[in-house]
Amino acid sequence: MTSASSSAVLPAYRVHSSSVHGNGVFAERDIEPGERIIEYAGREISWDEAQRRAEVSGAPHNHTFFFSLANGNVVDGGDHGNEARFINHSCEPNCEAIEEEDGRIFIYALHAIKQDEELNYSYPLIYEGRHTPAIKKAFACRCGAPTCSGTMLAPKPRKRKPRAQPQLPVEPIPGAAAARHPEPVAAH
Ligand SMILES: [Zn+2]
Repeated sequence: MTSASSSAVLPAYRVHSSSVHGNGVFAERDIEPGERIIEYAGREISWDEAQRRAEVSGAPHNHTFFFSLANGNVVDGGDHGNEARFINHSCEPNCEAIEEEDGRIFIYALHAIKQDEELNYSYPLIYEGRHTPAIKKAFACRCGAPTCSGTMLAPKPRKRKPRAQPQLPVEPIPGAAAARHPEPVAAH
């Protein structure tokens, strides 16, 4: 479906503090089912570069700004990213992230969203290291959904799905004093 009006309408979202965590992204107006809301912007970097950046930052929370792409690269929402990086996780999301054929990631409405509703999507984090109690605590989910799984960590995957999905590095996270969700680190 094409939408000639998509660039003409008001922005569908705004950022302000969330009761779930830190900043969140909220519907500025009613949003149609299937509407493309915002690009998950950021610089496309290699996985090696993503690992290097993670080590430099010294904290795991940055990693949730990383979205893996089908081509093996990563979009770093903390580098030339936009408001999309503030979208919180929910176990019952109203949005989803889809990687398009050109490798760009967009956030779409899964169903109709009312004005002022918080936007969220499910981003089970792939963490291939041991899911220790500290790791589980660091990535506990408090989305409040009746079906909340209590964690943002994906079960150990048997195979990768070819869809946009944030990843954590394979190394154990040092310290484990991490926030469960990215705090905004730098505007640009
Ligand atoms: Zn949850």
